[in-house]
Amino acid sequence: MSNQSLSNRDLSVLWHPCTQMKDHETFPIIPIKKGQGVWLEDFDGNRYLDAISSWWVNLFGHANPAINAALKDQLETLEQVIFAGFTHESAVELAEKLVTITPQGLNRCFYADNGSAAVEVALKMSFHYWRNCGQTQKTKFITLENSYHGETLGALAVGNVSLYKETYAPLLMDVITVPGPDCYHRAPGESWPDYSARRFTLMEQALQQHSDTVCAVIIEPLVQCAGHMRMYDPIYLKLLRTACDKYQVHLIADEIAVGFGRTGTLFACEQAAVSPDFICLSKGLTGGYLALSAVLTTDQVYQAFYADYQTMSAFLHSHSYTGNALACRAALATLEIFRQQNIIEKNRFLAGIMTKAAMRFHDHPHVAEVRQTGMILAIEMVKNKHTREPYPWQQRRGLRVYQYALSKGVLLRPLGDVIYFMPPYIVTEQELLLIADVAWQGIQQATQD
Ligand SMILES: *Cc1c(COP(=O)(O)O)cnc(C)c1O
Repeated sequence: MSNQSLSNRDLSVLWHPCTQMKDHETFPIIPIKKGQGVWLEDFDGNRYLDAISSWWVNLFGHANPAINAALKDQLETLEQVIFAGFTHESAVELAEKLVTITPQGLNRCFYADNGSAAVEVALKMSFHYWRNCGQTQKTKFITLENSYHGETLGALAVGNVSLYKETYAPLLMDVITVPGPDCYHRAPGESWPDYSARRFTLMEQALQQHSDTVCAVIIEPLVQCAGHMRMYDPIYLKLLRTACDKYQVHLIADEIAVGFGRTGTLFACEQAAVSPDFICLSKGLTGGYLALSAVLTTDQVYQAFYADYQTMSAFLHSHSYTGNALACRAALATLEIFRQQNIIEKNRFLAGIMTKAAMRFHDHPHVAEVRQTGMILAIEMVKNKHTREPYPWQQRRGLRVYQYALSKGVLLRPLGDVIYFMPPYIVTEQELLLIADVAWQGIQQATQD
């Protein structure tokens, strides 16, 4: 088996996500033979450092021995069972653990099988809660500019990245979109807290105006990942929590990308010391092994559905693979690594190395900003450093960085012209320096004409 032979077979039957398939007439697709730690290896023996954690899911490396062992054990016991009327040990234990480690008050766990599905669950639960409470006029959601919550129709509707949304707009429910706290847009000299707090007035206005008809505000705490890794200050979450209480609107925290240590704390909401009414978790939940998501909510929400059958107030949402036993077990093994190895503390050290490794990018003539929140570091590549004029998107300069990096054995996958590092937590100092070196050379190549 070679890269070429498997690529040919792939391209004759497969259709890949987030891909213009015609691109593969010029850019080869890369068949991966195996993964080990932060490294991926293709069928021709080339190795790639997985600097983006395989789309932000992998936390402790590929073929992690501890997760592998847990899965092998689970496989011998129970792989999957219907989750209505039945339960199993791994699902129960995982829910117990999630209730313990998530922000205070989130005591109920509902499983689904991917991030978008978790968002759908949270939206439906919030709407249904208000309905069960007799507040049937509450049917709308408030969302932030530049947000991303997944690509099924409900999740896409509450997102705001036009690349994903525009085409399908006629199919989507109406939402109230509020300008966001993204600190890339702060005034010269203005601090992150000052800018994010200042931008909150727009959210406050929207809540004041629409709260009667609004079920919930949905946000990505601290980092809008798919929206070009734009970041904001925790003050915004604090203000939002207070305002949601004041205006009787739920707060849905979509921590699908930022949860599990990405931002420097186990959950991003911790940095604002707030508890949302719903938290959506997926991606890193299983260490990047299997598709699983969870929505945690409060006793108050749960109680609004808890009644005699004849009241018809039960929550209705089901997926065939809800609470899959293998996925739950992978998640348990992942949480065990966090517990045993003091990962949050170790990540502080790694994040510091990332900061240092990226120092030189600040002065690059085509870098408008280098920003970082914990284990996410992003470099905004622009045409004009001073005016921040972007390159025309048609030039696809980020793609040039991607291809250059691949040729040097690093998997970077820029979002447009934003190059970012989001490595597994087992990455070494040396590997981080390699990532930064390759990114630097890639940006040099991509900006030379
Ligand atoms: C990836 C992502 C989703 C969607 O998760 P999928 O598993 O890809 O459906 C939702 N919200 C955020 C913030 C994400 O980053």
